[in-house]
Amino acid sequence: MSDRNLSEFGELFPQINELNAPFWNGLAQGEVRMQQCGACSAHQYPAETFCYECGAGAMSWVPVAGEGTLYSFTVVHQLYHKAFKPFLPYTVAIVQTDEGPRMLAPMLGLKRPLTIGERVKPCIRIVDNDKAFLTYVPVKE
Ligand SMILES: [Zn+2]
Repeated sequence: MSDRNLSEFGELFPQINELNAPFWNGLAQGEVRMQQCGACSAHQYPAETFCYECGAGAMSWVPVAGEGTLYSFTVVHQLYHKAFKPFLPYTVAIVQTDEGPRMLAPMLGLKRPLTIGERVKPCIRIVDNDKAFLTYVPVKE
């Protein structure tokens, strides 16, 4: 999804390093990626050099659907950063993905209240040519 008014988010990006670059580069290329263990097949996020499940050091990156259910959320009314001004109030969600990891991500521009357990899907927000970030939207409008 291409968005206007997202340039302010640029300064909120983390330091890109060898470990997290595949995640952020994936978003910039329009896909959600997670690490997957070559030994036990578990998916994981955030990235680490070993598997949280079995301890193996055979992690690779794979594209995932990233869909899931709403595990928890909070609605933020306070403006903490100017980037969020057009979206107040906005939601910060914890999504239980079908792959396994729980993702923490904003949900921007919602048109109705959310329900715990409802289906949500990724919505990649493009900031510029090499920066994009993960948000979620309800599967049902
Ligand atoms: Zn493993």
